[in-house]
Amino acid sequence: MRSTSPGDAPRTHGREPAVEVTGLVKRYGPKTAVNGLDLTVARGGITAVLGPNGAGKTTTVETCEGYRRADAGTVRVLGLDPVADAAALRPRIGVMLQSGGVYAGARAEEMLRHTASLHAHPVDVDLLIERLGLDSCGRTSYRRLSGGQQQRLALAMAVVGRPELVFLDEPTAGLDPQARHATWDLVRELRADGVSVVLTTHFMDEAEQLADDVAIIDGGRVIAQGSPETLCKGGAENTLRFTGRPGLDLASLLKALPPHCAAVELTSGAYRVTGTIDPQLLATVTSWCAQNGVMPDRIAVERHTLEDVFLELTGKELRA
Ligand code: ATP
Repeated sequence: MRSTSPGDAPRTHGREPAVEVTGLVKRYGPKTAVNGLDLTVARGGITAVLGPNGAGKTTTVETCEGYRRADAGTVRVLGLDPVADAAALRPRIGVMLQSGGVYAGARAEEMLRHTASLHAHPVDVDLLIERLGLDSCGRTSYRRLSGGQQQRLALAMAVVGRPELVFLDEPTAGLDPQARHATWDLVRELRADGVSVVLTTHFMDEAEQLADDVAIIDGGRVIAQGSPETLCKGGAENTLRFTGRPGLDLASLLKALPPHCAAVELTSGAYRVTGTIDPQLLATVTSWCAQNGVMPDRIAVERHTLEDVFLELTGKELRA
């Protein structure tokens, strides 16, 4: 597992973490969805949970929310057991589900006000409605809202109770760019108010923009966790990417490159060279291409991104 250096360890502000999952196992019949997963979520930060489809993200998050029981391992949320202590925990956490959990016939504003009334110190509902651009659809029933409006309402319902911790499951899926940026601003404000945020997303840019900490899940385990900067620590170096025909002989390319360089075929016909990318190295790669009859469709020098890390670790692209 790629790990953080001590300086990058999740910030706990001297309190217990917002979420602490140890050795979590969850099976659905013969299928092991989560397989000994460890995850620590710091207080007061934004933690993005990334992973390919079927990696076990939703199962993990739903176990933390108290919707599923662990088959093995321990889960502590704000120091409590999400199932045994559900009554104490519910008012302290906010949950945004991808879908469901809402009575389809209820009106948007009514539902939000009702949710607010269940909490001791809700945020100002009118302000929240305005912030999330829901003012035009307050009297509309949930089922008649557009997908984006339903998303924003679900987000509003998750945060209206002024929770200490919010779980946001793909909060910007299906939103237009304006609503997406409004959502990002709101999430940043939550952090500024000291709220801990756990967010699953299929958007790498969302994780890079928002997250203090990123946990990459694959095969039911956390395979890497750290700040985006730490995970991309190859970022001090550059990455050279080129595309060509699939299955090039990278062993021969490596022989031409200086020591400490690496070359991989990330996906069919998409190549990445890492190391100190200088003009000489660029010339070496293009000359190797010429000698091997390779015409790159695209060649570019880029910073090592979270997407590179994700691909390298999981062998899969993260797509919505
Ligand atoms: P996605 O990104 O596609 O939402 P995920 O990382 O959230 O995926 P999970 O939904 O936790 O993954 O699913 C993990 C595995 O468990 C998958 O193989 C999925 O098919 C399986 N699974 C999830 N829920 C159930 C269920 N209720 N019954 C049987 N199998 C399930």
